[in-house]
Amino acid sequence: MAKTKKKKAPGKNQGRCKQCTGLCCRYFALPIETPEDPDDYDDIRWYLSHTQTQVFVEDGDWYLNVLNPCIYLGPDNRCLNYEKRPKICRTYKTDNCELTSDDYGYELHFTSDKQMEEYMKIKFGPKVFERYDAQKRKKAKSKSKRKTR
Ligand code: SF4
Ligand code: SF4
Repeated sequence: MAKTKKKKAPGKNQGRCKQCTGLCCRYFALPIETPEDPDDYDDIRWYLSHTQTQVFVEDGDWYLNVLNPCIYLGPDNRCLNYEKRPKICRTYKTDNCELTSDDYGYELHFTSDKQMEEYMKIKFGPKVFERYDAQKRKKAKSKSKRKTR
């Protein structure tokens, strides 16, 4: 569940920003709960089944990264809402931004549901997805029992 916003947007060092294609205006990242059990990881697998999503872990915190550009990013990569741009954009600095840093030091970085699938198999064992079939069978069994009563 998202709690707060982690967004990177242009700051005052316009020199660098002029050379850039507005990289920091092309996504937003929201913190998500740290997954604990297979169901939690499976929810993240579902996030990753959507286009333009990634999940990364930084300093032990998990984030959902949505790779959608801001509607105010102009064709010249400048902000079309500069006077009224949100605070998060006003306070962002170019130090260590997407253009100036090539290593974010992510502990984990998932770019597809398949990656999460493989990760879950390693973390919880190769049969991690079989439990869904078992649960389904159990449900069907108890349903048919109720009908015969
Ligand atoms: S990624 Fe960095 S250089 Fe590019 S627009 Fe954003 S703050 Fe400016
Ligand atoms: S409002 Fe402007 S500065 Fe902020 S993310 Fe959108 S385009 Fe970038």
